[in-house]
Amino acid sequence: MILVTGGAGFIGANFVLDWLRGCDEPILNVDKLTYAGNLRTLEPVLHDPKHVFARVDICDAAALDALFAEHRPRAVVHFAAESHVDRSIHGPADFVQTNVVGTFTLLEAARAYWSKLDAGERAAFRFLHVSTDEVFGSLSATDPQFSETTPYAPNSPYSATKAGSDHLVRAYHHTYGLPTLTTNCSNNYGPYQFPEKLIPLVIANAIAGKSLPVYGDGQNVRDWLYVGDHCAAIREVLGCGEPGETYNIGGWNEKTNIEVVHTICDLLDAARPKANGSYRDQITFVKDRPGHDRRYAIDARKLEGKLGWKPAETFETGLAKTVRWYLENQAWVGEVASGDYRKWVETNYTER
Ligand code: NAD
Repeated sequence: MILVTGGAGFIGANFVLDWLRGCDEPILNVDKLTYAGNLRTLEPVLHDPKHVFARVDICDAAALDALFAEHRPRAVVHFAAESHVDRSIHGPADFVQTNVVGTFTLLEAARAYWSKLDAGERAAFRFLHVSTDEVFGSLSATDPQFSETTPYAPNSPYSATKAGSDHLVRAYHHTYGLPTLTTNCSNNYGPYQFPEKLIPLVIANAIAGKSLPVYGDGQNVRDWLYVGDHCAAIREVLGCGEPGETYNIGGWNEKTNIEVVHTICDLLDAARPKANGSYRDQITFVKDRPGHDRRYAIDARKLEGKLGWKPAETFETGLAKTVRWYLENQAWVGEVASGDYRKWVETNYTER
């Protein structure tokens, strides 16, 4: 069994669904179900005996100890986090609590459990920490892409707390010998993403006839990776990564925000034409985010060279799939937008 944290969130849920489709090894899914956790996404596997769900806060040391003792996982894949940069600007406390204190608490529980395993089990155990390229700070247009040796320079409360968690994970390997792996990935997009993030927000607002907000001049650059490719990379690193190492994951898809929004509008114009004009007419430039990093770009050659991983989707194919998914899954989007997904959790989830 593997223990996954944050498996009701965007990337975690995609990981859980992909994993259970592809192999027989069970998952213990540990998630607090914050606003970003949506059990509805996991409906296909909620009654699958290979999927055990535990509504637990990763800051709860006693609950984590009990889960490790009962389920004896051979690995941890740690997604749980507060993940939205804008929320971290308005309320950083939850980010410090979950991303730093929560990761520390999880590391402590993992270390206590791991230290009691026999030598063979200890050597085979893995703690994979899922992190972000935002820990490296901001690049100018001419800077080289982030590599695994780029110095950390986080600029938002979100990236600062993720950087703190990365450092704790590193320290647990160097100090205690815990077999850790860290992945730093670029921006993800795909099915089941909470519509506060750029791509699902633009799709939802476009269809609803609302404005499509773009920060500043729209020229901030991000590298984009389809979520299924990220999940495949994590499986690869979990299986074959070298303990103590970090791996950058990226899609070689540097795009300005305005390019992303234009591409979505063009896909929607083709799939669901408006009576008059284009979805591009709904674009509105809004006041820039404070401290908005200009450019992120990932050099993923280490992962590709050492482990043979390559993204299956280009930005064009991945985005076309994603737009189609949101158009075909309006019920999921509507439930999130109305808040009804929270009620669904309360009536369909019973504490063990
Ligand atoms: P998300 O916000 O969609 O999901 C986070 C999940 O963690 C939710 O299910 C939430 O309920 C759970 N959670 C939050 N606090 C918790 C706590 N204290 N205890 C237990 N569960 C808790 O996030 P995401 O976009 O799926 O990101 C997952 C991970 O990947 C994060 O660590 C994030 O930093 C990292 N990451 C995200 C991206 C991206 O583009 N989304 C890119 C690179 C790395």
